[in-house]
Amino acid sequence: MTEQVIWECFLMRRDGDLEWLWQRAQARDPLGRKFFDGIGEWLEKCRKAPADKAPQCLTCEQTFRDPAQPPLTFFVTHSEDPRINVVLLTGVCWRCAEKSDTELLKRGTELTAKFLKGRADGERHPSTETTH
Ligand SMILES: [Zn+2]
Repeated sequence: MTEQVIWECFLMRRDGDLEWLWQRAQARDPLGRKFFDGIGEWLEKCRKAPADKAPQCLTCEQTFRDPAQPPLTFFVTHSEDPRINVVLLTGVCWRCAEKSDTELLKRGTELTAKFLKGRADGERHPSTETTH
């Protein structure tokens, strides 16, 4: 029996995806629900985290602290695995949001792989796989 968790990534862009996710959340779809919970936690972190722990932009040095205008593009990592109850969100600042999906996804996938590796090293079954 394998314990491998399959992670999937996508870019959430304001035009289109947000409404789609909102509809999923209204329909009590797990991904929609987790996504909006995740956004809530992310915003909370922006407000409360010390400067060096504030959420950072996916592709530049900008950090999001008490954002009056939160970014509307997010790199989202999630899993359909019922054991995984969270999504990982990385904000993309307004400037970087103009980069192509391909570029942002590439960067996001690298970061996620690094994060999951660190996470997996502390677990019994270190094998993880990222798809998108
Ligand atoms: Zn940026």
